[in-house]
Amino acid sequence: MMPPVNRNTALLLDIDGTLLDMAPSPERVVVPHTLIRALERIALDLSGALAFVSGRSLASIDRLFAPFRPAAIGAHGAEIRGATGRVVRARPIPPRVRALFAQLAASTPGLLLEDKAVGLALHYRAAPQAWPMLKTAIEKNAGLFADEDIHVQFGKAVIDARPFGVDKGTAVQRLARQQPFAGRAILFGGDDTTDLDVFRVLPGLGGQGFSVGRRFPGAVHVFPSPRQVRQWLIGLAHAGRSR
Ligand SMILES: [Mg+2]
Repeated sequence: MMPPVNRNTALLLDIDGTLLDMAPSPERVVVPHTLIRALERIALDLSGALAFVSGRSLASIDRLFAPFRPAAIGAHGAEIRGATGRVVRARPIPPRVRALFAQLAASTPGLLLEDKAVGLALHYRAAPQAWPMLKTAIEKNAGLFADEDIHVQFGKAVIDARPFGVDKGTAVQRLARQQPFAGRAILFGGDDTTDLDVFRVLPGLGGQGFSVGRRFPGAVHVFPSPRQVRQWLIGLAHAGRSR
């Protein structure tokens, strides 16, 4: 059962696979205008206690949802923008790791490297045959990642690299201490491996989470697909308007 959203709620939302249908590449997602309007409305109703929690960079998030620019956690926690607009960034990815990812990306047509400075994402959705080679290469370089203090994580057709200790969960803990999020009942939604890091910290924050397309342990609700999440949000926006 979805908990009610009221004036004491803080809504934290993953983007790809949660709000938006997955696309062949990150830049080809479709962002319905009705979704942007609904999110703007809900953010107003929550006095700004709405934040994106994404693997995308803040720049990429802002391009998708312009002109809406709420609080946001980008690059899996390596970028945190509070409701005031102030941004805190993790240290950049070391050159040796960046070079390895660039070399892997160039090895097979269809691979796409997204360089977020504070994080790397190697997308293989358009070249699924490259997966065994990529997995082997990542495993072979475990020593390099350890030396450089970099954490590598496998998601949906994507391999992410970011500074060790940085994840969506630790970023949510930090955002939850800031106004207007502090003291509110957190409701988080996600669909992928990196969102489990948020599910891990939710109990300690007194928050709740829903998942999309698959059941996460502890999820209070499972939406079949992003479409149902969008319908829920549009409904929330309309309900808020009538209050
Ligand atoms: Mg996602």
